[in-house]
Amino acid sequence: PPKVLVLTGGIGSGKSTFARAFEALGVPCLDADALARTVHQDPAHPATVQIGRAFPQAMAPDGSLARGTLRSVFALDPAANEELKRILRPAVLALADDWTRRQQSPYVVWESALAMDQALPATRVLVVDTSDRSRAARIALRNPDWTRGQVASIIALQLPRADYLARADDVVQNDGTLDEVRALALQLHHRYTDLWS
Ligand code: ATP
Repeated sequence: PPKVLVLTGGIGSGKSTFARAFEALGVPCLDADALARTVHQDPAHPATVQIGRAFPQAMAPDGSLARGTLRSVFALDPAANEELKRILRPAVLALADDWTRRQQSPYVVWESALAMDQALPATRVLVVDTSDRSRAARIALRNPDWTRGQVASIIALQLPRADYLARADDVVQNDGTLDEVRALALQLHHRYTDLWS
């Protein structure tokens, strides 16, 4: 099976932006956070049933876990957030593993904000490291309805920057332009291709 490059970083750091740059170079990319959403939007999935028992206030009438509700119930409650991740993690990992085994490529990218606090079968961890200032500005652009306070508390809820860096095999900075992102992704891609082909 392909090697797994875990691409991680806090919210708004630029994971998706780097993932798209790798994708443009032909590397299969998986959005693990989107995969988690497919699990909790499926009322029949055992993990969704379990979350619904633990947090009935987060359930939609159809038995799925609505995204907006998830944000209001979990985003600002670290303990509930931990419990949610503990339940979702094995389900998401199993799906990600299935997907990886189907790819024909020396390596694949798993993009996830949650990557750092789980025991992932990562071959290498690439952390996107971005100043809080750039992140806050980009998050605010993307979510015009969020207040400055909401943006700040979402950033504060992320794992500390040092935790990401401690687990990183490679670190890439994202305080520059999109052209710089493409150039950095190409450099990294050459390195990973040398390592894993
Ligand atoms: P999330 O965890 O919230 O999904 P993310 O880490 O995947 O965030 P992105 O979605 O890639 O981050 O980036 C956040 C926002 O910042 C996006 O709107 C993106 O277009 C923008 N952005 C990211 N990197 C750059 C850059 N180098 N220059 C300009 N805009 C950028």
